[in-house]
Order: sequence, then structure tokens, then C-alpha cells
Amino acid sequence: MRVSRSFLPVLKESPTDAQIVSHKLMLRAGLVRQTAAGIYAWLPIGFRVLKKIEQIVREEQDRASAIELLMPTLQSADLWRQSGRYDAYGPEMLRIKDRHEREMLYGPTNEEMITSLFRDEVKSYRDLPRTLYHIQWKFRDEVRPRFGVMRGREFLMKDAYSFDLDEAGARQSYYTQLLAYLRTFQRMGIRAVPMKAASGPIGGDLSHEFIVLAPTGESEVFYDASFEEFDWHQDELRYGDAEGLRGLFDKVSSTYAATDETHDEARWAEVPADRQRQGRGIEVGHIFYFGTKYSASLGLKVSGADGSMVTPEMGSYGIGVSRLVGAIIEASHDDNGIIWPEAVAPWKVGLVTMRGDDAASVTAADDIYAKLTAAGVETLYDDRDERGGVKLGSMDLIGLPWQLIIGPRGLAAGVVELKNRRTGEREELSIDSALERLT
Ligand code: ATP
Ligand code: MG
Ligand code: MG
Ligand code: MG
Repeated sequence: MRVSRSFLPVLKESPTDAQIVSHKLMLRAGLVRQTAAGIYAWLPIGFRVLKKIEQIVREEQDRASAIELLMPTLQSADLWRQSGRYDAYGPEMLRIKDRHEREMLYGPTNEEMITSLFRDEVKSYRDLPRTLYHIQWKFRDEVRPRFGVMRGREFLMKDAYSFDLDEAGARQSYYTQLLAYLRTFQRMGIRAVPMKAASGPIGGDLSHEFIVLAPTGESEVFYDASFEEFDWHQDELRYGDAEGLRGLFDKVSSTYAATDETHDEARWAEVPADRQRQGRGIEVGHIFYFGTKYSASLGLKVSGADGSMVTPEMGSYGIGVSRLVGAIIEASHDDNGIIWPEAVAPWKVGLVTMRGDDAASVTAADDIYAKLTAAGVETLYDDRDERGGVKLGSMDLIGLPWQLIIGPRGLAAGVVELKNRRTGEREELSIDSALERLT
């Protein structure tokens, strides 16, 4: 994309209405704009990152054999009366009436809806197990929406729901999502540690929260540093391998990690001091096994192999897709701006001409831009006739992994400059070798 033809509003001043660094940077770099309390418009940069995160979540769900569908944002209140949650949910639920005075709501989550959809279509044990998911906007009327997209009122969530015939099967579905989550966050270039969670209003006994470490996080966390070393993508971990998945769960359970809600001083004391990590963290995902809570209340039953009726065991699995945009920035930035992990970067390369009024620079940069684009390398090309320093400053702020800098003096000597945003290292290379490095 050419900056001269794009819509990338960058703020010069640090916004005063933002309290935490990710929110400040998202406003300054032009990722989002608030349109009402806790409700955001996603501008082109933010939207690209959101889509990258969404796509990683989708690919890892698909690899774990979860099946994608799409449920609506608006739901009927009747469905929630059947589960008993219409009254229980409280003021966090946005309630709406249509023109016929029918009570509706903007979905804060989808257990009721997925259970009723599944109930109406599935009659036999042969159709289980299944895990279904969607990636859809939610609304929760948070008392204190804050920290930008991290605690919005409207936010994008991936929510998956598993249906199994018995508890053993439900545990396997839970372990499968556990692995999918570990892989998902690792691919995004962040460490999200699974921590035993106290089960909330959704209920159930098996529950983990995935927490990204950041000083501005809302919960206090304690974990064993071994979590920073695991590689969850190793081939030995395979979906469908029941023993292996149970082993993974045992390993996760036996490696200490807890939020202040579940922290256990006695077990913590057994973690060697040099491996104790303590700090604050942001909840980016949450998985629950809650048994038959919704299947029972909504009348989901299937016929079992022996002809008897079985009430399926369920779990639900959420990832805060839009919250992750903020959480990744909290975990990865410096004084000059955002530092995107390559997997979620809005573009891989920022191409900058130091002198937008120098014909040779413009010709060379146009050519490089065409070549990068043809090779499928996502490139943001700052082709404006602006001072070089200003352009480099906004590239640092936007935080693309690589900057390719074209200046008249270098060009005369046959070189361009390649800068690594994370390390700050700069290297002079011929145009051909720079292209080779980036493609
Ligand atoms: P929190 O404790 O932060 O309020 P939650 O426990 O209420 O979150 P869940 O019901 O577990 O949230 O929803 C699954 C995921 O959705 C969370 O792990 C989080 O990443 C995301 N999420 C929840 N509430 C919000 C929100 N207000 N804004 C953005 N993301 C959210
Ligand atoms: Mg909440
Ligand atoms: Mg929570
Ligand atoms: Mg939660």
C-alpha cells in the first residue's frame, strides 16, 4: 500500500485520554478510533492486524478439527430464559426490543444458541463428538470499559463449543483445545501461559485462563519459567492421540501457573526460586468444561449406542481476538512505538524514501515496491514528499518488522539500508540482496 493513497491517520501528540501504552500506541499509530464508550472503529492498520490474528486462530482451530460456522450477534431473550441466564447475567447484557416488542439481546457469548442449534439437528451418538466455533462480535456492557480494545464493550471473540457423549470424551475435547490454544499464541509470537482458573458464572470444574505477561495486566500471576521454553508445535504432540494429549494436560497441570484467584503458596514454594516468575497478566483466552449445564437445561439429548438417551457433555473455549491486538502491543513495544511479531504485522516491510523529491530515489523505490508486491511481500510504501526523519519516525511507531530505506547518497553507491525494527540493527545492502532477504 502507498501511504500517499491510504487512510493512515498518525497522531503527532500522545493522546491524553489513554492510560496504558498499547491504547496510546493504537491511537497514535492510527489503528482504532473510539466511536462511543468502549466501541471502536478499526482503521486500516488495526483491521489488518485483527484479520491476521483472526486467521491464525482460525487455522489452529481447523487443525484441531473444530468446525467453523457463524451465528448472529442478536439473539432472542427466550433462548436465555430456557437456560436461566436471562436474569442471572445482569446489567452486562445489552437488552433490546424490536418493533413488535420482542425481547432481544446482543450476544455476550453463545452457549445457549449453539446448544439449541445442535439440539435441533443432531439426534444420534454417531454425530458426536463435535467441536463447533465461530469468530463473531460480542457485546458486554462493562461497568468500566477501559484500556481501549482490551476492555471494550463491543469486541471480537472466537468461541468454540464441544459436544461429547461422556466425560472422558469431553476431557479429550478440552485437551485438544488446550493444545490448539498453546499453538495459537505461540504462532502469534507471544507467551500466553495457561493458568488454572476458578470457574466463573459459566460453571464447571475444569478451566484454564491463558495469560500474557504485561505490567498493565489486571490479574496478578505466578508461574514456572519452564512455560517460556516449551515448543508446542513439536511433532510428538498430535491431535487424536489420546495418551499424548493427556500427557500434555498432565505436564501443564504439574507445571506451576496460577492467578491470584487460584494461587497456592505451598505449591509455589516448591518451584525453584530461579524459575519463579511473578507479575501481572492479561487474560487473552479461557477454556471451560462445564458438563451438561446447557445441554440439560435446553433439552439436548441424543440416542446412545444402546438405545438409551444421552445428555451430551459440553465445554466452551474463548479467545479475545480484538483484545489480543492490545495485549500483543503491551508485550512488544519500545519507546519509539509498536514492534509487531512478524506473524501478525500489518505489513512485513516499510519502504521509505528519505527524499520524496529526488527522482532517482523515487524510481528505485517504485521498482522495489513493484518487485516486493509481485513476490507477495506485504509492503507499506511511504512515498510521500515528507521529511525522511518524519517518515522514519512514523515507521517506527507503526512497528513493521523491517524498514527498507532508500536515500540518494546510498543509491549513488548502489546500496539501500535494511533496518530490523526489533533489534534496531541497520545494514547496507545492494538492492538485489535486500530483495532476496525480504522475499
Ligand atoms: P475478563 O475477566 O477480562 O472480564 P472474562 O473472563 O469475562 O474476561 P470470558 O467470558 O472468559 O471473559 O471470554 C473469553 C475471552 O474474551 C476473554 O479471555 C477475553 O480475552 C475476551 N474478553 C472478555 N471480555 C472482553 C472485553 N470486554 N473486551 C475485550 N475482550 C474481552
Ligand atoms: Mg468479564
Ligand atoms: Mg476473566
Ligand atoms: Mg474468562
